[in-house]
Amino acid sequence: MKKLAYGLSALACAGLLAASATMALGTRSAEGGDDQGPPVSPDVRHMLNDVSATNIEDSINTLVSFGTRHTLSSQTDPNRGIGAATEWVYQQLLQSAAASGGRMTVEKQSFVQPPGPRIPVPTTITNVIATLHGTQPESTGRTYVVSGHLDSRVTDVLNGTSDAPGADDDGSGVAAVLELARIMSTRHFDATIVFAVFSGEEQGTFGSVNFASRLKAAGTNVAGMFSNDIIGSSLGQNGVRDRRDLRVFAEGPSPQETPAQAAIRRTMGGENDSAPRQLARFVREAAQAAIPKMNVWMIYRRDRFLRGSDHLSFLQQGYPGLRFTEPNEDYRHEHQDVRVENGVQFGDLEQFLDYHYIANVARVNLSALAALANGPAAPSGVKVEASTLTVDTSLEWQPNTEPDLAGYEIVYRDTNMPYWQHTIPVGNVTSYTVKGITKDNYLFGVRAVDKDGNRSVVTFPVPK
Ligand SMILES: [Zn+2]
Repeated sequence: MKKLAYGLSALACAGLLAASATMALGTRSAEGGDDQGPPVSPDVRHMLNDVSATNIEDSINTLVSFGTRHTLSSQTDPNRGIGAATEWVYQQLLQSAAASGGRMTVEKQSFVQPPGPRIPVPTTITNVIATLHGTQPESTGRTYVVSGHLDSRVTDVLNGTSDAPGADDDGSGVAAVLELARIMSTRHFDATIVFAVFSGEEQGTFGSVNFASRLKAAGTNVAGMFSNDIIGSSLGQNGVRDRRDLRVFAEGPSPQETPAQAAIRRTMGGENDSAPRQLARFVREAAQAAIPKMNVWMIYRRDRFLRGSDHLSFLQQGYPGLRFTEPNEDYRHEHQDVRVENGVQFGDLEQFLDYHYIANVARVNLSALAALANGPAAPSGVKVEASTLTVDTSLEWQPNTEPDLAGYEIVYRDTNMPYWQHTIPVGNVTSYTVKGITKDNYLFGVRAVDKDGNRSVVTFPVPK
């Protein structure tokens, strides 16, 4: 069985590489930019290959087999309910940790959620958190979180007993996180990656609210968070089959920005340059280089209408959180009692999933997480000279601390373009003047580059 799986992977790899060579060129020239994108190392290629649609299918099959994973379902039944599902996820992540050489630790984090509109009685909610500790002392405090949510629901949000298979919402996200943890636990990364399986999402994102506030209280530097929620189907209720696009919801200006920050944003024209948008651009570039058959479809919103997910808990704490979701949803398969009505099947069932699509979404996550956690921190203290009238653009920033830092790049784009178009390598300096290109006409940013060519996320400046 192992041999067969390996043979299939090798074939898939050849396809990936061939596609990469042709599509990367086409896509970039179409955008008119000269940005090179991040390098994709042989080891990242190997990890991408290792992502298995079969493993993902098996995981979702097991998750569905618990009948319901509703937050109010049994926590003690060994076969049915959220308790059994939580224990299974915990055991899966422990297996990954066992292969990590001691770098990955796993814990169940429980707390009691007091009663509220969707919690009739005090309820214990348990997240399963696997932390793959970074190995570079200067970077290990920098943390990336990738999540799915374990709990499921039917039409009545308080119904903890009916079958709630939650195959897509969010068996798909949990299965992807487990697969990423399995593969990435055997590797070293400079920064820390947290594989989080949250609970209580459908009742009010309680698990992630609790975890994000713990991180904040501990002073953790969460430099990026991805919520994988409903990433399982490539066929929408609108009849569109789309196996290429992954929606990435990225919030613009934060509702928590102060009047002073809002004034700076208006001066800079930075409405489209929030930290989540810079992170989303990074994800797009990383995925484009590593898995060009997938397209990161940036959506300039915090989430869909009437819906939320666990990234909101991170945004609330000031952390850049993104939501990853399939391109076209089918609401007959979300939050529905399993039933047939007028010949139409309702319910979040496995039969509607596309495991190869989920595997590719996992690959998008993997390419971005590896690039982030192997790469340097985004530069801090980035300022643009704005106190005199000049046709040049002068930028300055604080030095990064990583020992493998190579230098910095200034990036810029037209003010009405969504992605960075131009890159100027400036070496290992902490200030630079771009001659003859005025900040009046372009948006500028600065990113760090390490000796392996890994780039950081771009930092958008404030006026000096
Ligand atoms: Zn969900």
